Amino acid sequence: MDVAGEGWHVVDLSNGLESVAVAIESSSTVLTFPEFQYSPENVQGPGCTVDLSEVTLPGCPCLFHSCLTESCCCLQAHGQAYDITGTMLDLNRTDTGYSSPVFECNVLCSCSDSCSNRVVQRGLRLRLEVYRTRNRGWGVRTLEPIKHGTFVCEYAGEVISFDEARHRQLAQKSEENNYIIAVREHAGTGSIIETFVDPDMVGNVGRFLNHSCLPNLFMLPVRVHSMVPRLALFAGRDIDAQEELTFDYSGGYSNQPPAELLSTKSDVAMQASSTNGLQRKVCRCGAKNCSQFLPLDLSVLN
Ligand SMILES: [Zn+2]
Ligand SMILES: [Zn+2]
Ligand SMILES: [Zn+2]
Repeated sequence: MDVAGEGWHVVDLSNGLESVAVAIESSSTVLTFPEFQYSPENVQGPGCTVDLSEVTLPGCPCLFHSCLTESCCCLQAHGQAYDITGTMLDLNRTDTGYSSPVFECNVLCSCSDSCSNRVVQRGLRLRLEVYRTRNRGWGVRTLEPIKHGTFVCEYAGEVISFDEARHRQLAQKSEENNYIIAVREHAGTGSIIETFVDPDMVGNVGRFLNHSCLPNLFMLPVRVHSMVPRLALFAGRDIDAQEELTFDYSGGYSNQPPAELLSTKSDVAMQASSTNGLQRKVCRCGAKNCSQFLPLDLSVLN
């Protein structure tokens, strides 16, 4: 779909589904583009028993333009994640190895649509471009500078069951690069919530993001109205226009050990790879701390 901009034309990868067009580098459009169905949000996939549109989280009765920590039950129950401009407040939250989930105001909340506790649900706001990288296939870069802590995009796809995720991973050929992200959250009383998101057949711009061992984005599960989290990517530092956007597929960030939240333990994963015949993919991120291989996603959960 061609969208007329200010004197220039961009092909919108999202076909108008995002509020900002997702550009495709013009010289790349002649190349074969992977076939997939664009969806700005997660969709219910095989084995997922939760209706993602169902509202299962409570709302707040706040009548303010924007919710206040002193009086808002949403903010009191889960803590304030964003500042007044919608920027992530605790920028060190992934450095500890743990990150607490974020709960945004939802459709049951009586605050306005511009409440600062509504960020990921507003969707893509930045001009991003999918382009052909020099040696790593497709990638995503930003066409504008991004401030540290800003929400960039979701990693959206089919939400599938563990069995389906395992089945799909084993069926993957080694040259395919789409990652089924496994998010494992510890929910207080020893129980663990696992979410599997596969962007291969249905996904958003996030499916084109490359892995880096020294990424500039970090991932956090964000909940709006459903207990099924959205996998939201935020800027881990100030990012310049034209920089490639990357995240650590294993969930680690800023040279810290991978967050427990999105865990792949490489030693266990290596073992799994030898038993399952999975090929480890070489990492070409070029970072000084590069671990030489891409993380294995699900194998650790076998
Ligand atoms: Zn609110
Ligand atoms: Zn409120
Ligand atoms: Zn609320």
